[in-house]
Amino acid sequence: MPIPPAPATGSVDSPGPAASAESTEVVIVGAGQSGIAASAHLTRLGIPHIVLEKADVADRWRHGRWDSLVANGPAWHDRFPDMEIPGVGPDEFATKDQMADYFGAFARSFGAPVRTGVEVRSVTRRESAPGFLVETNQGTITAGNVIAATGPFQVPVTPRIISEDLVPHQIHSAAYRNPEQLPEGGVLVVGAGSSGAQIAEELRASGRQVHLSVGPHDRPPRSYRGRDFVWWLGVLGKWDATAPDSDHVTIAVSGARGGHTVDFRELAAAGITLVGRTEAPQDGTIRFADDLQRNIAAGDANLLELLEEADAYVEANGLDLPEEPEAHHLGPLPASVSDPVRSIDPHEAGITTIIWATGYAQDFTWLQVDAFDAAGRPAHLRGVSTEAGIYFLGLPWLSRRGSSFIWGTWHDAMHVVDHIDTRRRYAQYAPAPQTLSSTSTSPTPSAPAQHLLEESIR
Ligand SMILES: Cc1cc2nc3c(=O)[nH]c(=O)nc-3n(C[C@H](O)[C@H](O)[C@H](O)COP(=O)(O)OP(=O)(O)OC[C@H]3O[C@@H](n4cnc5c(N)ncnc54)[C@H](O)[C@@H]3O)c2cc1C
Repeated sequence: MPIPPAPATGSVDSPGPAASAESTEVVIVGAGQSGIAASAHLTRLGIPHIVLEKADVADRWRHGRWDSLVANGPAWHDRFPDMEIPGVGPDEFATKDQMADYFGAFARSFGAPVRTGVEVRSVTRRESAPGFLVETNQGTITAGNVIAATGPFQVPVTPRIISEDLVPHQIHSAAYRNPEQLPEGGVLVVGAGSSGAQIAEELRASGRQVHLSVGPHDRPPRSYRGRDFVWWLGVLGKWDATAPDSDHVTIAVSGARGGHTVDFRELAAAGITLVGRTEAPQDGTIRFADDLQRNIAAGDANLLELLEEADAYVEANGLDLPEEPEAHHLGPLPASVSDPVRSIDPHEAGITTIIWATGYAQDFTWLQVDAFDAAGRPAHLRGVSTEAGIYFLGLPWLSRRGSSFIWGTWHDAMHVVDHIDTRRRYAQYAPAPQTLSSTSTSPTPSAPAQHLLEESIR
């Protein structure tokens, strides 16, 4: 069955001629990994689009984190399927600049229509016309569709519970670059996900006194029985989980130093004082919750559970992977966990800085359309929002656990772009011209669903 060619321009979602504004079929907001992935799929299908980026391609990788950041996943896994990361071995961990260079090179490889330095200030639905008005710092564009690819980590979240009279220098992990940037003295790092654990380790290695406030976390083994944990999550089907468990918590992993398991016993042995969750101060002392042992135990249980699932998988599939019984022996708890500090006078302890590694929130105030639920969260199914023509990419758990990772957003982008293409083909469809000779014999024009079916069985 013939497939109708995709139109170059014009569809129900094409904005049509606008008096003065530039017009395109799709505007992608953000040129991180998600925006670049969407651009690659749109380019493959010949769908006109523009990528608007307020900073630079992959700017969050290049400038949004600390200097020594490397990818958390090995290069064989954390990349787009179409291109390897130059100069990085498959089992190595790319530096942040290698990642940013990679996305820039990938975007150039297919001529992604990226405009940098263009900030999208609002997106609104047009009145009595299809599509959307995209207002930017450089003028207005009309677009049939808008893909919001502005990232999972937009606005740093800093609990304002400790006054600057008590600890004068307080920054979010988004503003941390290196130990030299901080004033002399000890540091309290709050949060022990990947960012907090890695920053605490770096500060301790630089000679600082460090307290690390450890909340609930998962901590998978970096590798087990000769395979990286990303492989185990893959073969065990865990990347495909479609929603977080009710008790889902942050994950502490590290690709630093060639990749290693985040082990709080090792951090304590290196001289880091572990403490429970940070609470509001009382009488000039910072308080810590009585949850450190519980948090460490739950993280240990998470690690051991994965080892057991891995062993069961090896057994069930008759694999020949080297045994690693020592990985199941975690060793005694350090003193700071068995007898935890519950409060600290920061002046006495010499703590001059707090780094809040407490995560990020999303900000879609610029997206003024009907694509949010009552709580203000994006309302979507696999990135296809409740407002026709508006799409999301790069959100955690957009379609599954892998969604905020490079390879995961590639697949989500494929689905979103396929949705755009399908709607476009509906718009383009018109009944075949009726003539006497062809009325009874002309084939039924391909419907979009047929096109999809043919695509999926190729
Ligand atoms: C320690 C650490 C290690 C990590 N390691 C890995 C890893 O190994 N593998 C992996 O896959 N992921 C990793 N990540 C996650 C990864 O950094 C993010 O998930 C990724 O940056 C998200 O990509 P994105 O394109 O969805 O969003 P972003 O990279 O955040 O891109 C969004 C873009 O949108 C732009 N933007 C925002 N608002 C506007 C606007 N109004 N107008 C125009 N442009 C706008 C921003 O400037 C930005 O460039 C890691 C994260 C951390 C903290």
